[in-house]
Amino acid sequence: MSKAVAGKPGSKGLRLYNTLTRSKEDFAPIDPDNVRMYVCGPTVYDFAHIGNARPVIVFDVLYRLLRHLYGEAHVTYVRNITDVDDKINARALRDFGADIASGKLSLNEAIRRVTEKTADQFHKDVASLGCLPPTFEPRATEFVQPRPDGKTDMIGLIQSLIERGHAYEAAGEVLFDTGSMPEYGQLSKRPLDEQQAGARIAVDEHKKSPGDFVLWKLSSPEEPGWDSPWGRGRPGWHIECSAMSSAYLGEVFDIHGGGLDLIFPHHENEIAQSRCAHGTHAMANVWMHNGFLQVEGQKMSKSLGNFYSINELLETDTFGGRKWPGEVLRLAMLMTHYREPIDFSVRKLEEAENTLRKWKRAADLAEGEGKLPDGVIEHLSDDLATYGAFQHLTQLASEASDGDAPAASSLKTALEFFGFDVSAEVDHAVVEASIARRLAVIAEKNWAEADRIRDELLAQGIQLKDGKDPATGERITIWEVKR
Ligand code: AMP
Ligand code: ZN
Repeated sequence: MSKAVAGKPGSKGLRLYNTLTRSKEDFAPIDPDNVRMYVCGPTVYDFAHIGNARPVIVFDVLYRLLRHLYGEAHVTYVRNITDVDDKINARALRDFGADIASGKLSLNEAIRRVTEKTADQFHKDVASLGCLPPTFEPRATEFVQPRPDGKTDMIGLIQSLIERGHAYEAAGEVLFDTGSMPEYGQLSKRPLDEQQAGARIAVDEHKKSPGDFVLWKLSSPEEPGWDSPWGRGRPGWHIECSAMSSAYLGEVFDIHGGGLDLIFPHHENEIAQSRCAHGTHAMANVWMHNGFLQVEGQKMSKSLGNFYSINELLETDTFGGRKWPGEVLRLAMLMTHYREPIDFSVRKLEEAENTLRKWKRAADLAEGEGKLPDGVIEHLSDDLATYGAFQHLTQLASEASDGDAPAASSLKTALEFFGFDVSAEVDHAVVEASIARRLAVIAEKNWAEADRIRDELLAQGIQLKDGKDPATGERITIWEVKR
């Protein structure tokens, strides 16, 4: 664990670029005993693409760094699953249209099938990329209506916004009144009058200002919906993250992350909702955004035929005529600084594969436990300068090859820290113990914990398969090493 650094209390020498101030700042958590981070997660209607993998990997590295600096038990990482969205409804109708028409499936049931299958796939994909499961992974549908546990819900937040004069009902919608918040636009640096002057497109008649956005909209009888004070309807996209972040991290927390495209409107609107509903000066203190990924020099798009899902790269020969191990994709992603654009190419993946091979060969010379090198932490503490940290690893690899055993041990520890697989052998006893723990929580119907244990093992390359003992009919779990 690194030493405390002079300066703000709780500061550990970590500096992060804050989109809110457009500058690199010393990071000091609100509560060093509980450092709190929220990252916008996937909308689960289709396979996640390789661009979606970037925020997951980047913020996984930050999560690992925070755990190193503040202690594993002192970091809470929340990444949501968006399982209510019109794109999901459309996908359910496309995939299960006939069953819905014949009455075999309700729309809600079809939607549940789409979202569960996609969320499972997402978990498998990101575990293959070496990402740790977040501390909590709330699903939007569970936070629409008031909850028995009293955690923040979307309807409650919208009610507060109406009561405080920041939202109004019009034409079957509840809208956020952007004119009611003088600081609206601070994150994206878009002053409100500019947005209004720039709005050439026909303004929706029912809106007070063109930038006003939907908090709630009514559903037709065929559409999914929840009862609310404004009628049966469904939430807008932005309100989800305001509810789920507040539910787990409180009204003001430390770090909020996502891709660059989310700055406007999504994050701007999250800030407006949370600050106005809670009457706070901030939603999160630090706002971080990863740059965009393009493929072989072009924007990834289905029409250009250069659109790749994570799963395709892992399991098929469509990119460069071969499959790619998850850790090669992970390293390739991290070789570029997270705020820069990345050009994902076969050449880059080959370079990552070669580098990883050299590092692992050198790490094989390790004798016993090594210390995580200070140089690696120093680079990462400079706004996640992964490239500098990797140069440090290459230096260690060269010292290790020259017979420096402590360098090899440090290298091995650093590779593990980054989520690369250096375990020569799986410790059977440890895996069996985790499986036994998982069976015990399943018996208590604690599915969330069971899934967490499964994903934790998957992140170490161990895949579980549930089944029944043919002789006794008892539930059993078998496992295999995937990487
Ligand atoms: P979405 O499901 O579109 O909301 O995206 C999920 C996450 O992936 C968000 O944080 C997006 O900013 C991010 N994202 C989407 N496309 C890309 C891309 N091409 N490069 C980097 N990040 C992306
Ligand atoms: Zn969000």
